[in-house]
Parts: sequence; structure tokens; C-alpha cells
Amino acid sequence: YAAFPNVPQAPPDSIFQLTARYVADKHPNKINLGVGAYRTDEGKPWVLPTVKKASRQLEENPDIDHEYLPITGLPQFTKAAQGLIFGKQNKAVDEGRVISVQTLSGTGANHLAALFFAKFYEFPTDKKEIYISNPTWANHNAIISNVGVTPVSYRYYNKETIALDFDGYLEDLQKAPERSVILVHGCAHNPTGVDPTAEQWDKILDVFLQKKHYAFFDSAYQGFATGDLDRDAGSMRKFAEKRVPMLVCQSFAKNAGLYNERVGALHVVAADIKEAERVKSQLSVLQRSEISNPPAYGAHIVSMILTNPELFESWKNDITTMSGRIIEMRDALFDLLNDKLKTPPPPGRKDWGHIKEQIGMFSFTGLNPDQTKKLVEEHSVYLTGNGRISMAGLNTHNVETFAKAVDEVVR
Ligand code: PMP
Repeated sequence: YAAFPNVPQAPPDSIFQLTARYVADKHPNKINLGVGAYRTDEGKPWVLPTVKKASRQLEENPDIDHEYLPITGLPQFTKAAQGLIFGKQNKAVDEGRVISVQTLSGTGANHLAALFFAKFYEFPTDKKEIYISNPTWANHNAIISNVGVTPVSYRYYNKETIALDFDGYLEDLQKAPERSVILVHGCAHNPTGVDPTAEQWDKILDVFLQKKHYAFFDSAYQGFATGDLDRDAGSMRKFAEKRVPMLVCQSFAKNAGLYNERVGALHVVAADIKEAERVKSQLSVLQRSEISNPPAYGAHIVSMILTNPELFESWKNDITTMSGRIIEMRDALFDLLNDKLKTPPPPGRKDWGHIKEQIGMFSFTGLNPDQTKKLVEEHSVYLTGNGRISMAGLNTHNVETFAKAVDEVVR
């Protein structure tokens, strides 16, 4: 008999479906700007040279075996990953107030954090709510809802100006009840590519302090935004320094190109060492029932890169290669649309400057759903319906084809 006669058919994941359509497309000049994964100038996935070096060393290390890791992960990995977010000298770390748990990449960190909140946070009202930016990474909604917490949107992006709705953002932070949990992107906001400036971060921080909000940081792109690991961690370090209660969900998928190895961590900054220990003990209990213990390979690779000065320097070069190529593509696309083709910019903009102002892996082009559909159907250019493109999918061989396609659908 059918045990699940009433289970409705779920829709496929839109990004993964987009990739499947791209793969099936026979067009010789098809372009995939959907998925957020780095590609070389030849449009190929990139195994970072530093990861290759570390992996060779790992293979030759006689002490490496396939025993279980501790429940909270490989200690040298979580320690080094913590240092990467908070910096070498950080008061919270020195005081023993930061605890870290290895997770299944950034998604796993977001899930574990949301689960912990669902179970233990004393929410300001009867409703369990976590605030998310409008828009945000689509998975945030599902991750939060899955643990019985309601995602509530705060204003972030202004469609008219294709820029930050800074006043709306601050106003919504002010309006939220005291001690609300606010999910913020550490840098390189997905999907918009729109980040606050350093001055704007200071004002956001002031409201967090004034309203005693909890900062739930998602850091999936450290190094991808500016090419500088320290600079990209600036927002989080500032919040930690000012003692905003906070956590950080960290991913090494993008900056180490370790997408399928699921390397990440959840870092919680507690008020004191006792709270830190209690939180870690409960995260450990949750982790045990969910995944028992995390996978080792990627954690070994990353901890070697972070603790060996030679590998670390080499990794910084790899990051510069990736972020640099993305920035070059922003410049190239801007020059083509703005100067060469004189493509009419989206309504509300005088030019295509937003392509260069935005940061990180993604760009919100300002193309409307109709134009986006035409790009997919008539030009075999694959992008999400909200007009987001992965800049890493562009290269010196296809950027002109893409710009011409945009020019055609816009006119
Ligand atoms: N947060 C954001 C904002 C992301 O864009 C991503 C990746 N798309 C993640 C978290 C998690 O990615 P992963 O689980 O592969 O680390």
C-alpha cells in the first residue's frame, strides 16, 4: 500500500534545475550565469593550486587515518578557522568567549545555528522569528522554516536605484522588538552584490547595540569580495569588538574551491567563558543526533592551508586570482554595455555603474523577468529570474556575446 498517498510533488530547486537545462542545451555559445561557483577564463571549474599542494602533503602524511573526528570537528581546523574570521588578536577569542563547531559547510552552519536558536533562544515575543534581508540567499528561508522559526524580511535592497535601501534597513532594525535575531551577510551579499560601506556598517552596528539585537552572520565569501581576507571580515570583527552578541556561519566552499567537501564552521561569541561552554555543550548534543561527527578530508586541507605560512601565502594568491578575475569581468561588462553598445540602463539608473559598484560573486543586473526569460529562451544565456548573474560565469571569450544578448533584450 502507499504509505504516502498525500505527499505533494515538490518543485525542483530552481538553481539546480537551471544548471540541468544549461547542460541539456545544444547551443554552441551557451552561457551559464546561474550557479555561484568560480570558473576559470576557459569557463572551467578550478582546483586551487594550493589545495592540490595540501592534498599531496596530506596523502603522504602517515598519521592520517579514517577514524571518526570528534563531534565538534577537527580541533586544529576549528581553531584556525576561528582565527580567519576574528583575526589573530581578538579580545573575544583571547577571553575564551568564542566557541567553534565544524559543520557541513555554510549550509550546515546556518542549519545548526537556526536549530540552536529554535531550541534555546529566548525570543522577544511569543513568535519565534529570525529577520532576513529582502532579498537573501533563497535557502535561508527554508533553513529557518525547517526548524519551526518564521523568517521575517527586513528592507535591504532598493529596486529603483539598484543599491542599498539604507534608510529602510535601519528603520526596520529600529522597528524590530529589542533582542531580535537578525541574519546579516558578512560580505558580498547574495544575491544582490550590494554591501554597506564601512560608515554604513558603523551605523548598523549602533542600532544593534541600542536595540540589543543578536547578529546572525553568514560568511560564505570571505576573500571573494575585495580579495583581502581581513578586509572582508571587517564587519564581523567590528561587531565582536563592540560586544554585540553574535555568531558566524563560515563556509570554505567558495574561497577554497572546496564546494563538494562541505567544509565550514559555526562560531558563537558568548558573553563570558561559562556561557561559551554551555552553548558548546548543547551544540555538541545537537550535532551528535544530526550528523554524529563531520567529514575530515576538507577540514584537514583547510587547517593545513591556514596553519602553514607557505600554503597560506599561496592560498592568498589563489584568492587574488579569483577575486581579480571577477573584478576584471565587472569592468569589461560595464565598458561593453555602457560605452561600446550604449545599452539603455535599467529604469532608475543613469548608467550601468551598479555592475562595477557591486561586489563578490554576484551582480543584480536590474534586468526584469521578461528580459531574463528572453535571455534564457532566445540566447541560451542562463540566469535566475531575479536578474542575478554569477560574474564568475563570464570570461574574456563570452562577455561580449553576453553583453550583446543583454543589449538585444533591453532594446
Ligand atoms: N550562505 C550564502 C549567502 C551562500 O551564498 C551560500 C552558498 N551559495 C551558503 C551560505 C552556503 O554554501 P555552502 O553550504 O556550499 O557552504
